[in-house]
Parts: sequence; structure tokens; C-alpha cells
Amino acid sequence: MRTIGVIGGMSWESSALYYQWINRAVRDRCGPLHSARLLLDSLDFSEIARWQRDGDWDAAGQALAASAQRLEAGGAECIVLATNTMHKVADAITATTRLPFIHIADPTGEAIRRQGMGNVLLLGTAFTMNEDFYRSRLQEKHGVHCLLPNEHDRGQVHRIIYDELCAGVINDASREIYQGIVAKAHTEGAQGVILGCTEIGLLLRQEDSPLPLFDTAALHAKAAVDFALSDMV
Ligand code: GLU
Repeated sequence: MRTIGVIGGMSWESSALYYQWINRAVRDRCGPLHSARLLLDSLDFSEIARWQRDGDWDAAGQALAASAQRLEAGGAECIVLATNTMHKVADAITATTRLPFIHIADPTGEAIRRQGMGNVLLLGTAFTMNEDFYRSRLQEKHGVHCLLPNEHDRGQVHRIIYDELCAGVINDASREIYQGIVAKAHTEGAQGVILGCTEIGLLLRQEDSPLPLFDTAALHAKAAVDFALSDMV
């Protein structure tokens, strides 16, 4: 089994999910006492969030690159960046490590295509929804087109992520806001919903949505396990 290296803490609420899902998947596939070989380098999210707000993506990229180097030095055999937003600086990481980098958009795009879908609603931070780094990979590599909430709704989705979900707050009124946004997208022709922020699965479950949900954190964790077990016969 290969050792998975996770850059986490963004937020730790979702890193904890990654840890559970990775270990559960290894147990399911290898047997009841098996667990993952895993290194977690967990960052202080407050510092990352400040760089995001200030637009200092170079500083954020350098911090993540340093994290990847620590994981590599510690024996990790791949890098899993446990946040969608920070894939904005994925190049800073891949430039600094020779380890395979499992991009979160790839297992997501593959899962959507497996369901035969091409048009999906994207929910995530303002960075992930408004900028091109994430949507263009889904479009160009996987043929998946992302529909976006309107500007007001994007603001709500973003606010709830930072003010609530990353702080461990799960609020019924916020779930209803997300449900309203999904319902609108449904009438506009969306076939599914990308939970394009690793905390959204804490708020919105499949039973809350008339459309299939694609939880990027769960899909990413599974891809990490596929990689870790791919050297086993
Ligand atoms: N975990 C979130 C994401 O997947 C948001 C936190 C962050 O900005 O990294 O985008």
C-alpha cells in the first residue's frame, strides 16, 4: 500500500472527513483491521483565509508548496490537496514536488461523466465559482459544463462556507438557502450538483436534493485510496 500525503486544515472540519473516508475505504477493500498509510500536514486556515482575502496567492502557494515538501520528505507517495479553492495554486505545488498530484476536479469530472451528465450546478467558494481555474479543467478535460448560481446566491453560498461550515456550524436555515439554489438550477436544466467545497457535504445531503450530488471531498478521498492500493495485486 502506498502512503497518501494530505495537505489539510482548509478547513480541518473537512480534513477530518477525508481521514474517515480514506480509512473506511481501505478497511472495506482490504479487511477489517486495515487502515491507510497516510501523512496529514494540517495548516492553520486563518492564515490561508487571510491570504485569500488579500489576494496574496503567491504567499498561499508558497505555504502549500512547503507543505507538499514536508509530506514528500516524510515518505508520502502522492499529494492530495484537501480543498477545492486552493487548487487555484496547484501549479505552485506540482512545480515543487515530483510526487503525483491527485487533482480534485479529475475524480469529480470522471464521476459526472460516468453518470452521462454534461451540465451541472457548481457550488463552492467565490474563488471556485467565479474564477476559471476549476471550471476550465472540468470543461476541457472532462467535457463537463458548470452552471453557476446568480450573483446574490453565490454570495450566500460563499458566506455560509466561511462563516459557518469552516467554523463547524451547521444551520438549518442555511441548508434551506442551498436547497433553494439547487431547486432553481433544477428548473434551469442542471442535471446534478457539484459540492465544490469540501465542507458542503456537512450541510447538504443527498436526501436534501432532487438532483444527484457530487461531493468532491468524498470523490477525492476515494481517488486517493485507488492510488494507494493500485500497487497491490
Ligand atoms: N474547503 C473549501 C474548498 O473546498 C473552502 C476553504 C478554502 O478556501 O480552502 O474550497
